[in-house]
Amino acid sequence: MIYINSREGFILACDMLPELAVHDHFTTETEPLKITEILEKKERTLSFEVFPPKTYDKFDTVRDATEAVAALKPDYMSVTFGAGGSGARYTLPIAANIEQKFGVPVIHHLTCVGSTTENIDEKLMFMRMVGVCNVLALRGDIPDGDDPSSWAFKHADSLCAYIKSRGDFCVGGACYPEKHPDAPTLEDDISNLKKKVDAGCDFLTTQLFLDNAVFYRFVEKVRAAGIRIPVTAGIMPITSVKQFDRIAVLSGSKIPEKLLSIAARYSDDPEGMRAAGIGFAIEQIAGLYASGVKNIHLYTMNSAAVAREIVAAFPGVLGGEN
Ligand code: FAD
Repeated sequence: MIYINSREGFILACDMLPELAVHDHFTTETEPLKITEILEKKERTLSFEVFPPKTYDKFDTVRDATEAVAALKPDYMSVTFGAGGSGARYTLPIAANIEQKFGVPVIHHLTCVGSTTENIDEKLMFMRMVGVCNVLALRGDIPDGDDPSSWAFKHADSLCAYIKSRGDFCVGGACYPEKHPDAPTLEDDISNLKKKVDAGCDFLTTQLFLDNAVFYRFVEKVRAAGIRIPVTAGIMPITSVKQFDRIAVLSGSKIPEKLLSIAARYSDDPEGMRAAGIGFAIEQIAGLYASGVKNIHLYTMNSAAVAREIVAAFPGVLGGEN
């Protein structure tokens, strides 16, 4: 198993992005915007997730794709972190590039996989040096054959508490409207979620869900458990039958009848499936906004074209005060 070499990621960032500004701490000019400030300030937000390349040879292609997404000027963007794999070193360069080149605030995902206090400190230091102050603290999926008892942080709550103790970081966490697969029940999962919030987590982002009723019920339970921080709704447009099959098998998400019929109807028509899948996501988001949900996080899969169609359906959400 290759563990993340953050120094290498930082050197890559400087090497591949020659215009990157690097400081030894947050400066007044580079004082980055915290996600919590954005969530508090705006009436409705729309933010995007992107992923970094897995290998060096894909860096330019993926950077260009994430730049096209950033050019849509979402409220903020999150950049995933490939736990343990070589891809993890590209999160920082991709995140720093988005923030510095487009002025879009970013969240750098970080996992407990293979963690030591030293390697987490080092990552936080490099984030600070390029002006990234938002971190999504995750446990990560446990790699086959790995033993979390050797990690410094075993769950997201302890990683979250540690990051909060290391500086003025805004820390987010993940949550699961249909429960995390390891948790025996949703109630157990929410009681563990409370530990993450008590550890200082500032906001939550949900796993994708396809039925808004599932999200509303989840938020009710979360609030009843005494969790008051913002819960951002994670939406993934399903644009191909392959993606539909993967989600249906892997995520355990409840699939609404309407999406089942879309997948059946367009099984041999990729263009039709794409249009109907985007339409489904737009309806989902419209329903959420109409019900008073303020914050939507779109899993873009690095597709600016898909994100653009969704932005166009909600004029006024981005690019101005609302
Ligand atoms: P935890 O919050 O630690 O929860 C994991 C399980 O442990 C749950 O069943 C929970 O109930 C239980 N638990 C939590 N705390 C405790 C405790 N103190 N004691 C006992 N049990 C506890 N993965 C990546 O590798 N890279 C990414 O960039 C990434 N981004 C993601 C973004 C979002 C928005 C989401 C929803 C998931 C993301 N993931 C990512 C996947 C995530 O890492 C996995 O789902 C992982 O299995 C759980 O991570 P977590 O942070 O939710 O873990």
